[in-house]
Parts: sequence; C-alpha cells; structure tokens
Amino acid sequence: DATVAVPAWASRLRDIADFPKPGILFKDIMPLLAHSEDFRGAIVAMADRWRDQKLDAVVGIESRGFILGAAMALELGVGFVPVRKPGKLPGKVLREEYTLEYRSDCIEVHADALPAGARVAIIDDVLATGGTLVAALSLVRRLGVDVVGAGVLVELDGLGGRGRWEVDLPLHTELVF
Ligand code: AMP
Repeated sequence: DATVAVPAWASRLRDIADFPKPGILFKDIMPLLAHSEDFRGAIVAMADRWRDQKLDAVVGIESRGFILGAAMALELGVGFVPVRKPGKLPGKVLREEYTLEYRSDCIEVHADALPAGARVAIIDDVLATGGTLVAALSLVRRLGVDVVGAGVLVELDGLGGRGRWEVDLPLHTELVF
C-alpha cells in the first residue's frame, strides 16, 4: 500500500467534542486559518486541483466555505460566489431546501450571480453527510452554470457523504478522517 503523506498544515486542525451538540466531533479549522504558512499550504493544495480546469468562479458555502473558497478564488485568479443561509442575500435569489438527518435546511444564491455556462467548483470546509454539498450542486445548477466538481478540506468517512455525491464529477478531499 502506498503511504499517503500527511500535509504539514494538517496538525493545525483541531477536534472539539460535543460541538455544536452532544455526540458531534467538530473539526475546527480556526487554528489553521490563524497560521499564515499553513493556511496558504491548505489553500494552495485545494486550488491545485482546479488550476487546469479553466474555472470562471469558485462557489463557497456559508460560512467556512467562504473563507476557503474566497482565498482559493484569489489564488486561482477567478471570481467568488457565495451560497448563503436564507435571508442573507440582498438581491433576487434562488432557494434550495434539503433535509439533513433531523431537520430541514435551506440555502440561497443570487439569481444573477453567474452567467449561464460559467465553469465553477463548489467549496466547503467539511464533508459530513453530504447533504449540504449535494443541495449546493442542485442549487447552482439551476443558474445554468457548468459545475466542474467540488472540493472540501476535510472528509469525514463513515457518514455517507461520498455516497450521496452520486454525480460523475470529482469531489476532491485533502484529508480524510
Ligand atoms: P453535511 O451536509 O452533513 O455534509 O455537513 C456539512 C456542513 O456542516 C459543512 O458546511 C460543515 O461546515 C458542517 N459540518 C458538519 N459536520 C461537521 C463537523 N464534524 N465538523 C465541522 N463542520 C461540520
């Protein structure tokens, strides 16, 4: 078996037990963001996946997907488009409702955020059940854009996220736990 090298920045991720509620092991990226060299290392690793993909924009999911996605967009020299929680975007929006295990949720994007045919990648910090990423895919596709794939910093194995990503598009992960 090939040994997979753990990137230097991986040590800056922190586990916080029982946040935001009992039984959840929260992957906290804040110590990574606070360290300039390791933050850059993580962003470059995520951006490298898309360098030859001729993206027009990076779509980031609120809220840690904004931080990673916006930094990636600058690194790639492309625009950034936020997918937000309901009621936050000031213009006309498209809305997508989706169900997570115990609740339903909703995300929005500006209806005029991107021209039809724009090539985009969807970015978030953590893939857990995959519900959020799949909802974001279906939401931004309604804009008529060409979703080239998705990327997350951390994939939590065993929660079914990858299985829920049924489309034949890359879902890039930098670290699996
Ligand atoms: P899911 O839709 O279940 O894949 O959950 C992904 C979304 O919830 C992402 O926006 C993550 O930021 C957040 N999330 C879910 N589980 C965790 C976790 N264990 N640690 C940090 N963030 C999480």
